[in-house]
Amino acid sequence: EMSLKQDLNMQNHISKQLMETFDATKIRENIRWLSSTMHVAGTPEQLQLMDRIEREYKELGFEVKSYEYEVLLSYPDYDHPSTIQAWNGVAWEELSNGLSEPLGPPEALEQQDDPRLFVWWNAYSSFGSAIGPIVYVNYGTDEDYALLAEANIDLKGKIAFVRYGGVFRGDKALLAEKRGAIGVIIFSDPYDYAPELHNTNKTFPDEIWLPPSGAQRGTLLRTTGDPETPFYPSKQYVYRSEREESLRARNVLSSIPVLPIGYRDAVKIMRRLNGPEIQWNRWRGSMDTTYRITGTPSFRLEVRGRTSRRRIKNVIAIFHGKEEPDRWVMLGNHVDSWTKGAIDPNSGTGIMLEMARVVKEIHEKTGWRPQRSLVFCQWDAEEFGLIGSTEWVEEMLKPLGAHAVAMLNLDNVNGNNTLAIKSVPLLYRVLVDAASKVPHPNQFDVENGRLTLLDAWRFYNPKGPLPGDKSVPMINVPGSGSDFQRFISYAGVPVVDLKMESQPVYSYMLYHTMYELPWTVENLVDPTGEVFVSVGKFWLEVARNLADSLIIPFGLLDYAIMLEEFLKKMDTHLVYLGIDEAVSKDFYKEKMSHLSEAIEKFHSSAIVLQNIAHAVNNGERSINLRQAEMLNNRIMSIEKAFIIDQGIYAERAFFRHAVFSVSEHDIYSGVTFALILDPAVEYVNAKGNETSMQHWLETLKLGFTKLNYAIESATLML
Ligand code: GLU
Ligand code: CA
Ligand code: ZN
Ligand code: ZN
Repeated sequence: EMSLKQDLNMQNHISKQLMETFDATKIRENIRWLSSTMHVAGTPEQLQLMDRIEREYKELGFEVKSYEYEVLLSYPDYDHPSTIQAWNGVAWEELSNGLSEPLGPPEALEQQDDPRLFVWWNAYSSFGSAIGPIVYVNYGTDEDYALLAEANIDLKGKIAFVRYGGVFRGDKALLAEKRGAIGVIIFSDPYDYAPELHNTNKTFPDEIWLPPSGAQRGTLLRTTGDPETPFYPSKQYVYRSEREESLRARNVLSSIPVLPIGYRDAVKIMRRLNGPEIQWNRWRGSMDTTYRITGTPSFRLEVRGRTSRRRIKNVIAIFHGKEEPDRWVMLGNHVDSWTKGAIDPNSGTGIMLEMARVVKEIHEKTGWRPQRSLVFCQWDAEEFGLIGSTEWVEEMLKPLGAHAVAMLNLDNVNGNNTLAIKSVPLLYRVLVDAASKVPHPNQFDVENGRLTLLDAWRFYNPKGPLPGDKSVPMINVPGSGSDFQRFISYAGVPVVDLKMESQPVYSYMLYHTMYELPWTVENLVDPTGEVFVSVGKFWLEVARNLADSLIIPFGLLDYAIMLEEFLKKMDTHLVYLGIDEAVSKDFYKEKMSHLSEAIEKFHSSAIVLQNIAHAVNNGERSINLRQAEMLNNRIMSIEKAFIIDQGIYAERAFFRHAVFSVSEHDIYSGVTFALILDPAVEYVNAKGNETSMQHWLETLKLGFTKLNYAIESATLML
């Protein structure tokens, strides 16, 4: 049998060459053509853009496949934008025309050349009008509503006036709907979106802060994928099992009109309110007026638009691996945007296309191919609710089970200080390792000794997930918000979501506005293009390592340690909720100790396998082909072993990963062990309803079994 040894010199050599080949100018050019027109999913412009991307990868010599689906999307009436009016005692007076304003120097203005760019809307709003008084609900969270309830203010028959921030907008709308609101207006408060306004008075185009007429578009969809075809790909043969009407009735789509507006108009609404001044400090924002909760005048919200079944198209480009072409290291980014999308998502697309060019150039120069395949996934209709990637995961579920190594997603790059990462534990080490190899692009950081991406990451976000181990900086659990979600929570593919951000600002203020122009990228986000280059180097190095190491370099031990952490956290929470009493202390103790034992077993098996993998990958130990094959098969099966086929529980069959799922209260945040913790919370909330309490207690008990089973299964695969 031929014996294999990791050639570390060769690996380092290729890694360096790949990094040196990135070209900032090319990324800038990519972003220019990618963002030259508005390209909302389901429109001819977006399909043409996907065709062009397909051609680009083909020209680079990749094997390219496209995957098309027909899905339910939603659009505004561009000719008749939505409006808000107030009754002044005599007539309806217009407070909002539902439109942004052109802003900036001539070069920027030139790029604001499409009247549709100016129109404000939230996808999947219901259409029609709502007439009634307004209630300001702050960020529209459960805590906010608890305060309102104390003050005896309810939403029935009223229009909720809520500010952006914190949680996913669809969840804000949902909470208002559930409380009987007849309409929702979501505004961006300068307190959150132009926080320095009172000091500098500078917003776009002078600085990156949101100008008064900027409004955040975005989806309200409360599921993932084409809402008409859960679990199955929206191909010709598939029956549409869900209908729009029942989707609205079940709150999957909004059942009331919802509109996003800028603070130019929000302040006019607030000024019309004539109730008492707000006493809660956290409810005051920084618009130039007194903040009040409600008042006597009536408002009319008119939302115009329609839903429509449209064609979407994902482009999947494969750079075949040399020895194991059937193993896929996937890179993902969406292409569709709400406007021209120069930041979200085309900063990411521009980097991804440059990565593909770099791979091809090094291949031509040196003959190098990674051991495993690199699969570049360019998604459509992410913005509407991860639709392109979800339909693809549904179509490709079985092949993914056999071939997927990992999905490395990057949505956009909007800042220049630090990496902000969501990841499963299996990938922690690979991420840290790659970050240590990439020079930091920001002069300010370099002057302060933060020489690599890792140094800055440790400086800005030091608190890591591993207890007592500072080598890994902050990494969040994967929730949702971009196309990695179905891969982990449905297919059990290890995922990471990469971002580069400016501290202390999370996300960015022009998010989903018409001001996401190439001009903005070149003048306000990354004038030199060096930030994009550094992210590209980092992203590709992570992929290279996963694709080219003899043994797939997953951190099995980190997974075991994190399971222990998640268990501790769960224990504290369950005891706090009184669940130990509810199921009986004996039952609880027994199940918890079974879980601990299962994790311990996983831990000891993980150590054995990881030590071998390390030795091989460090070049200290050689291995024959068959052994390598066997080890890689085992390692690739770990994450999938956590998948519960029937779903974490009956009400959430869409989520199947025993460890990682998405919060029920905020699509953006990730949660762990929801199969036990969700029913625990439901049980507590059901107090007084005997049947419901019983149901959730049974669900919770089964949750213990499912989690234990998943961990045992993972150990058996090791
Ligand atoms: N990225 C989109 C948004 O934030 C979609 C998020 C999702 O559906 O998870 O609006
Ligand atoms: Ca589907
Ligand atoms: Zn995006
Ligand atoms: Zn987006």
